[in-house]
Amino acid sequence: MKSSAAGRACAKINLGLRILSRREDGFHEICSIFHTVSLCDEIRIELGDVPGRVTLACDDPSIPAGPGNLAFRAAERFLEASGLDMSVHIELSKRIPVAGGLGGGSSDAACVLRLLSRMTEADPGLDVLASGLGSDVPFLLGGGAAVVTGRGEAVRPIQPGSFWAVLLNPGIPVSTPEAYASWDEKHPSLTRSAPYRDDRPPELAWHEGRPFPVSLCNDFLPLLLERHPAVSEIARRLERVCPAWGLSGSGPTFYGLFRTAAEAEAFCISVPRSFAPVVCRSSDATGASSNW
Ligand code: ATP
Repeated sequence: MKSSAAGRACAKINLGLRILSRREDGFHEICSIFHTVSLCDEIRIELGDVPGRVTLACDDPSIPAGPGNLAFRAAERFLEASGLDMSVHIELSKRIPVAGGLGGGSSDAACVLRLLSRMTEADPGLDVLASGLGSDVPFLLGGGAAVVTGRGEAVRPIQPGSFWAVLLNPGIPVSTPEAYASWDEKHPSLTRSAPYRDDRPPELAWHEGRPFPVSLCNDFLPLLLERHPAVSEIARRLERVCPAWGLSGSGPTFYGLFRTAAEAEAFCISVPRSFAPVVCRSSDATGASSNW
C-alpha cells in the first residue's frame, strides 16, 4: 500500500446542455456532452494509521475544509465503504474557479476516489460512491468525453474531441440549485410525463477524423443573461470571434473553442482581464491533452 500519492482533478465543460424535464424526486433530466479540459486542481493524499480520520488543507479559504467539501466527503465515503482503518489527509490546490459551472468540487471528489483506490488497491464500488456524491462525479471519475443523460449519472463515453478552449469567467458565483429553481419557475409544466421536445441536442461534427463540437445550446444561458445582463458582453465578444462558443453548466463560465493554440492565445490576449481568461486544451480520459 502506498502512503502518499498526487493527482490532477480536471475541469469539465458542457458542450451544450438541454434540460428535458423535472423528475418527481426534484432532479432534472438533462442531455449534455461533457468534456474534460486541461485546467485542473491538484490533490495530494497522505495515509496514516489513525482509524477513520479525514483532514483537508486547501489554499482557497472560501471553500469548506470539513465535511462540506466534496473531496473530504469522498474520502469519508471511501473509508466507510472499504472498511479500511486509516487516516486520510488531503491537500487541495484550487485552480478551477469555484461555483463556475466547471465541476471543480465534483472533480476533486472523483480524483480522491481514484487516488484512494489506487493507493489502497481497494475498490469498494467507485461508481456507486461517485453517484452518491453528486450528479457530475460519475463522469469525472473517468473524464474524457461522454454523452450524459438522466440526472447526469447515465454516462456514454465517446471519442474525445480535439480543441483549444479559452475559458472566460465574469467572477459572479452561480449556485446550480438556484439556477435549476429559476428554470423551474419559467417552465412549471415540464414534468417527466410532459418532457421538452429536444429539437437541438448537443452534437459533435467530424473534422479531419476528430469530433468537434457544433451544437452548443445551453438552456441556462437565457436565465443567466436575464439575471446578470452585464455578462452579455462576454457572449457578444465570443459571437464575433469564435467559430464555436458556449456556457458551461449553469454558468457563469463561458468558453470559446479553437482549432489551434495560436487562435486561442490571440483571442485570450484580446479580452479584458476582468473576464479572467484562461487557455486550456481538451483532455482525454487519462487527463492527457489530445493530439491534434
Ligand atoms: P455544481 O457541481 O454544483 O454545478 P460548480 O461546478 O459550478 O458546481 P463547484 O466549484 O463544484 O462549482 O462549487 C459549488 C459549491 O460547492 C461551492 O459553493 C463550494 O463552496 C462547494 N464545494 C464543496 N467542495 C468543493 C471543492 N472541493 N471545490 C470547490 N467547491 C467546493
